[in-house]
Amino acid sequence: FDALVGGESHLPSVTRDGVRISVLLNAGLSVDGESAVLDMADGIGLYRTEIPFMLHDSFPSEQEQTARYRAILANYPNRPVCMRTLDVGGDKPLPYLPIVEDNPFLGWRGIRLTLDHPELFLSQLKAMLRASEQQDNLSIMLPMVTSLSEVQAGRRLLDQAWLEVSEELGRRGSSIRYPSLGAMIEVPSALYILPEMAAYVDFWSVGSNDLTQYLLAVDRNNSRVADIYDAFHPAVIRALYQIANEAHQHAKPVSVCGEMAGDPLGVLVLMAMGYRRFSMNLSSIPKIKYVIRRASVEELQPLLELGLKQDNSAALKSLFSGYLEQIG
Ligand code: PEP
Ligand code: MG
Repeated sequence: FDALVGGESHLPSVTRDGVRISVLLNAGLSVDGESAVLDMADGIGLYRTEIPFMLHDSFPSEQEQTARYRAILANYPNRPVCMRTLDVGGDKPLPYLPIVEDNPFLGWRGIRLTLDHPELFLSQLKAMLRASEQQDNLSIMLPMVTSLSEVQAGRRLLDQAWLEVSEELGRRGSSIRYPSLGAMIEVPSALYILPEMAAYVDFWSVGSNDLTQYLLAVDRNNSRVADIYDAFHPAVIRALYQIANEAHQHAKPVSVCGEMAGDPLGVLVLMAMGYRRFSMNLSSIPKIKYVIRRASVEELQPLLELGLKQDNSAALKSLFSGYLEQIG
């Protein structure tokens, strides 16, 4: 099976009925920019900048960040690279920034933390922008957005960073493009403010890991409740469907970058909903491409219609696993 799927990893991901799907990489380690990986993915859908921060023993300098981001952007010329601003706290601790809280998953994490440290936020944005001088492929994404005010503040900081870097580069006759800015949809409140948010962001990306965790109030890393953590729970499925529909209404590109995007059943359900961009770990790319190239969106849509009426995840999953068996 591995040999079979491996052989198609470099072919474009188009469904049997001709729908082009973007298969993107979730990255964060420098090895993600190496050789074979490069031709398999259509770009990077999620660059987790906290990973290089975790590997250091203190905050990396702006220069160090610039060099790292520049190398990543250069690895994917003419392909999109979406960098997420620092998403520490919760399940992503930084050894040199101890945070002691009773409820870290409900605490100081993601954009909450960086908005409280605008100097850190700005220095990261400026490093990303400087790194984009030679490449035109950078977009930036905000993690753990709960409220509109966070997106507005993130936008203002990006404006400021862009002005400062543009001025600096302008002095030596160079310039940078203003990158597109997106928000992750992974806190349930974000679902209900999509129309307002649409005025401030260029795209959305669904973090199905955290979205599932917070919708179901179940720790994504606690094995004791692992059977309750279910991305196919009817509530999660309806939430994902709502996001797809609102993104379509507001003409915003939308992707899914949680684990669900690297799961064959998940991708079938999401394609039926209208999602066309999936970002996943390297190891999932071959099998997801294999599934996409054998699926037909037209055939999947009636399954979704039926699936949305189910009151439990097993029923929905069996509809789609029947299809999966049929195609491959
Ligand atoms: C998610 O929450 O689904 C996501 C992609 O981000 P992370 O796993 O880094 O929290
Ligand atoms: Mg997340």
